[in-house]
Amino acid sequence: MASAPTITPPKIENKKLFIAGKWQDSVSGKTFETINPATGDCICQVAEGDLADVDLAVSAARKALESKPWARLSGSARGRLIYKLADLIEANAKELAALESIDNGKPIRDSLHVDIPGTAATFRYFAGWADKIHGKVIPVNGPFFAHTRHEPIGVVGQIIPWNFPAMMLSWKWAPALAAGCTIVLKPAEQTPLSALRLAELAQEAGFPDGVINVVPGFGPTAGAAIAAHMDIDKVAFTGSTEIGKQIMKTAAETNLKRVTLELGGKSPNIVFADADVETAAKFAYHALFFNMGQCCTAGSRLLVEDSVYDQVLETISSLAGKQVIGDPFDEKTTQGPQVSQQQCDTIMGYIDAGKSEGADCVTGGNRVDRAGYFVEPTIFAGVKDDMKIAKEEIFGPVLSVIRFKDVAEAIERANNTMYGLAAAVWTRDINKANKVSAALKAGTVWVNCYNVFDAAAPFGGFKMSGVGREMGEYALANYTEVKSVITALGR
Ligand code: ADP
Repeated sequence: MASAPTITPPKIENKKLFIAGKWQDSVSGKTFETINPATGDCICQVAEGDLADVDLAVSAARKALESKPWARLSGSARGRLIYKLADLIEANAKELAALESIDNGKPIRDSLHVDIPGTAATFRYFAGWADKIHGKVIPVNGPFFAHTRHEPIGVVGQIIPWNFPAMMLSWKWAPALAAGCTIVLKPAEQTPLSALRLAELAQEAGFPDGVINVVPGFGPTAGAAIAAHMDIDKVAFTGSTEIGKQIMKTAAETNLKRVTLELGGKSPNIVFADADVETAAKFAYHALFFNMGQCCTAGSRLLVEDSVYDQVLETISSLAGKQVIGDPFDEKTTQGPQVSQQQCDTIMGYIDAGKSEGADCVTGGNRVDRAGYFVEPTIFAGVKDDMKIAKEEIFGPVLSVIRFKDVAEAIERANNTMYGLAAAVWTRDINKANKVSAALKAGTVWVNCYNVFDAAAPFGGFKMSGVGREMGEYALANYTEVKSVITALGR
């Protein structure tokens, strides 16, 4: 029976763009609908930004970058503002969680206990860095004093996806603000609501006008305008590999703006027979099915050693049967809808491909018969490396289970992908854990755990999963330029 929700779907008024500290209609006057994926209904209209609005936002960001108070603010003062924003996020956690759940469809238990606390934690971590960003004194030949300055990279364009709207925003805003940059953010067209509320909270925290600008809109228009803008110094993008490539190309063809990309994945999760197999199987289930499979780190290729293959398959199949699919605002719900009709259709296309290529659909494989974009948790066994479902990022609740015989085969097949975002290994043998984690070509390797994120730990991709790192100290390097200052002594 459904439990009475303590957080209810909010009523939301139509939304405007946030530029130069003001709420504005788009220059074209156009708006678009943001949809509740649990019902397919329109939540509200949102002003639709395009090139002209990006231009206004960039001008505001440039002005804020180069003038008081932001340009003169000390690192510690910037840090205090970021701490204040983190406090406000916590104080408004229920409201923000409700925005994430209505706009994205994620279960309220996840928005409230994972997304929003993770967002606040990222701001708090980078607030601490704001007054610790500095260069070095470097001994050089001759009567010269050389030092480096780590200056803000400038106006940054940030384009984020819809799977963790608030959290992805924090990964982008927090290091940029700590470094002293100013921001033009485009949230995903599917999920603009939390970004707009966070802009309001940033204003309440005291960020000067123009430091943060939010321009909702579509990728080929507002997103492309950010990638091509001659007065944006850096673009940070999270999304598909295909669009990431386009952004890099556009940056190269315009002003060579710096580019960081966090792209797709097809992450291998390797379970050896000497692991705590039951725990590994439970984590393997969540590694894929968390957030309806809409994670760039989703453990979508589960490689299992021969002798424990049946046991693992049985455990994950029984967990699929226990998934509580339904209204995201019901606290018992563990699986909500996919984000959109389009995403739902793409996933069903992959499920059909798995079936027609001869993989064994052990459980699921259908849409759920109700309004909204729900897909059954789907597990394919007997998956071969050359099947579409083993090669391409699905971004949905579809797990491929793959059988292997030994360590060498596991490593070889795990790395047999164009992606390299994350990987995991489960074993009780420390030597095997060390050997395999060193051999895996991925930006993050989890050993006997999965999806452990921390604002302090760098995150990003090898190969076609990305360029650059977010989070941790490494993120700051992507928001600063290094300047060498060489001063003659005694003249
Ligand atoms: P997905 O297919 O999962 O939505 P995308 O890479 O298409 O992933 O989208 C991620 C983000 O990139 C979204 O904010 C989207 O609007 C934006 N985007 C899409 N196309 C472009 C583009 N051509 N240029 C810039 N941004 C884009």
